[in-house]
Amino acid sequence: MATAATAQKQDTAEHFDVLIVGAGISGVGSAYHLQDQCPDKSYVILEMQDTFGGTWETHKYPGVRSDSDLYTFGYRFKPWVGAPIATAEEILKYMGEVIEENNISDHIRYGHRITNCAWSSDDNLWTVTATRNSDGAQQVFTCNFLWMCQGYYDHENPNIPQWEGMDQYKGLFIHAQKWDPSIDYTGKKVLVIGSGATAATVIPAFAEKAEHVTMLQRSPTYFICSENRNELADRLREIGIDEETVHRCVRAQIMYDQDMLTKRCQTEPDVVFEELKALIRQYAGDDFQFEPHFIPKYRPWQQRLAFCPEGDIFKAAAAGKLSVYTDTLETFTENGVRTASGDEIEADIIVATTGFNLSVMGDIPFQVDGNDVDWSETINYRGMMFTGVPNLLWVFGYFRASWTLRVDMLGDFVCNLLKHMDAKGAKRVDVALRDEDQDMELLPWIESDNFNPNYLMRDLDKLPKRGSKPEWRHNQDYWSEKEQIPNTDLDGEEFVYDGKRASKKAADAA
Ligand SMILES: Cc1cc2nc3c(=O)[nH]c(=O)nc-3n(C[C@H](O)[C@H](O)[C@H](O)COP(=O)(O)OP(=O)(O)OC[C@H]3O[C@@H](n4cnc5c(N)ncnc54)[C@H](O)[C@@H]3O)c2cc1C
Repeated sequence: MATAATAQKQDTAEHFDVLIVGAGISGVGSAYHLQDQCPDKSYVILEMQDTFGGTWETHKYPGVRSDSDLYTFGYRFKPWVGAPIATAEEILKYMGEVIEENNISDHIRYGHRITNCAWSSDDNLWTVTATRNSDGAQQVFTCNFLWMCQGYYDHENPNIPQWEGMDQYKGLFIHAQKWDPSIDYTGKKVLVIGSGATAATVIPAFAEKAEHVTMLQRSPTYFICSENRNELADRLREIGIDEETVHRCVRAQIMYDQDMLTKRCQTEPDVVFEELKALIRQYAGDDFQFEPHFIPKYRPWQQRLAFCPEGDIFKAAAAGKLSVYTDTLETFTENGVRTASGDEIEADIIVATTGFNLSVMGDIPFQVDGNDVDWSETINYRGMMFTGVPNLLWVFGYFRASWTLRVDMLGDFVCNLLKHMDAKGAKRVDVALRDEDQDMELLPWIESDNFNPNYLMRDLDKLPKRGSKPEWRHNQDYWSEKEQIPNTDLDGEEFVYDGKRASKKAADAA
């Protein structure tokens, strides 16, 4: 049903077959797959920033870099030729090349913030409203399929706990997500709150110029140290193998090794931890003290392992440039903070690396036939489509493996789905529970025993529901999905085209 408001908007709207939300690594990769596999489809990417890159453009703190290797964080279709761990600048250069080599820029509208998405079943169309940053004008688009590549966190408002006494502090307090590169920390005392991947990145960078860096963590994190080179890639290049083949082989090797590590973290976590410690000792020295600051309470892999290229954070610790406190921040003071144990930590600059605020679908209001969509009431189909919301897919990547592996995989999936719909003459696709799913237990989006980063745990109730059967969950397991998703039966009973169950079995029964 088209509401009066959406019908009026549709009259003046610009139409595309597919509308991609966001020009981050997901949006750009999705655009590549769409134009490669469905060249007849018209499409546009709407991006609220003035340039592409998403995460890699908006984060500007010292040392900002990937913690995945770029052989797997890079796309499968464009070889990565640099060192495995890359700076934000190198990632942006790589994405820029993908955009240029494939003429994607003609399809991107920068400075367009999407403010509403409304589905009409009468027209089988999404009406997408955006505000143009340059003049505040409202722009209206319609599309048949909405490809959500807006990421998973609030790009403007990071998670900043409200600590006591923050107003007394006379130094500079800033969250890493808001870091301004003009801030000079040369010769300053810097306190970093937190100990995850962001802390592991900024601390070695601060340590180069700051007088001293202190890390205050509530609880310890696992770190994995390694040289920033890939032996197999170096060897293959040395013997003259072309870059496409190097990329393919090194991706396969890294994914195999990660799979083994993930399994071993579950079957022999203590052995893995001893190995992680041995890697740290290579950089920090044999007498490095792990107790109490580097002995986590959870199993390795329940949260992302923080990667340390060249053991950089441990080199800073061994050089006496880094002190660590494992304690609770009780209050800010004029000159720093006081911990629950009564320690005073002085700092000229305090940097919070306290994570994100989750953002479901970019916090954009959605309606289906005039009714507001409450995402927490929907059930997710393999973490990409949602019951009650037609013609839409969200690219939500992996946390343990590179996010981008899923961008490529879902790129193939969407293109197959669109071709399948065309072959059937279908204008609408929904996912819906099958008869056998009706009594299925409904659970939160993610299994917290398996993976439990704080930003997900804080807002789990905002995310779509997970079912107890494999089709109705994002299992965060690349290794099983790489078999399952490409082999999806698009005529399976969970797919409904133009209101009719796809499967022959269901049609026969009807
Ligand atoms: C500092 C940092 C380091 C990371 N390192 C890694 C790593 O090494 N490996 C890994 O796998 N993952 C990493 N991640 C996770 C990372 O966010 C993802 O891997 C990936 O970059 C997400 O890409 P994306 O395109 O899906 O989303 P984003 O990068 O978040 O991009 C989404 C885009 O959508 C736009 N957008 C959002 N809402 C709207 C709207 N309403 N209208 C218009 N445009 C909109 C945004 O402006 C943005 O450009 C890291 C995250 C951070 C913050």
